[in-house]
Amino acid sequence: MALIIRGGKVVTMDARQEILAEADIVINDDLIVGIYPKANVPPEYQAGQVLDAQGLIVLPGFCNAHSHVAMTMLRGMADDLPLKDWLEKRIWPAEEHLSREDVYWGALLGMTEMIRSGITSMADMYFYAEEVARASKEIGIRALIGRGIFNKIWDKSLAESLALYDAWQNQGEGRISVALAPHAPYSCTPNYLEKVAMLAADLKLPVHIHLAETRYEVEECQREYGLTPVALLDKVGILDYPVLAAHCVHLSPHDIDILARRRVLVAHNPISNAKLGSGIAPLKAL
Ligand SMILES: [Zn+2]
Repeated sequence: MALIIRGGKVVTMDARQEILAEADIVINDDLIVGIYPKANVPPEYQAGQVLDAQGLIVLPGFCNAHSHVAMTMLRGMADDLPLKDWLEKRIWPAEEHLSREDVYWGALLGMTEMIRSGITSMADMYFYAEEVARASKEIGIRALIGRGIFNKIWDKSLAESLALYDAWQNQGEGRISVALAPHAPYSCTPNYLEKVAMLAADLKLPVHIHLAETRYEVEECQREYGLTPVALLDKVGILDYPVLAAHCVHLSPHDIDILARRRVLVAHNPISNAKLGSGIAPLKAL
């Protein structure tokens, strides 16, 4: 039976960016079959379940393009530190004490907050990622989930990424999908990034990574490899596949050209960038 969302102001996000002052949306078998201005719903759908949206705005769900949703539990820890100290001195040591169950409840809490804010999709990267997947399935959010991959725990994090793929790809009525999530160019060496690229090709999976987040990262990368983090990813083949790159704060004009040419999706993370004093992403240029 059809579901009718009745009488709301509808932000269609169609090619013409049309906004309808008052319209009915008809959903059948999980698909929008039509949007009918002023109660002109065809008779075959009339008998459906009705949600009254008068006085409300109806629009597509928001997407949180980069999260570590279970970290909701660590909110407010370790303010006023640069990324390197925040991660190495405070966050990573604290995360060593988190159990599988902690990650499940933290994820569920974070997702509840997202849904309350109108977020219906998220892209997440964390450990015990199958617990994040389990929480996503239960709460009904759409999720792209990756197990963070690091040099230091390469074998373990890679094995867990593959196990995540085996168990969770297309689960939750197709809402859950899996990404490969090499943490960053500073926590995965180029030869490991190259292996991730090959795996992305084999499994046809997207890659979710932190990129050019701090000036320090860019300087270190240039010192060690003679390339910016963006150019390094391009060189090792990661950008041959669909990539979701978080932060992208410190980019050269050449980096921006590469990102555009390779059609990399950039996740803008202004709150995180402000909290850690990482800088302001060049949104206009992007
Ligand atoms: Zn992140």
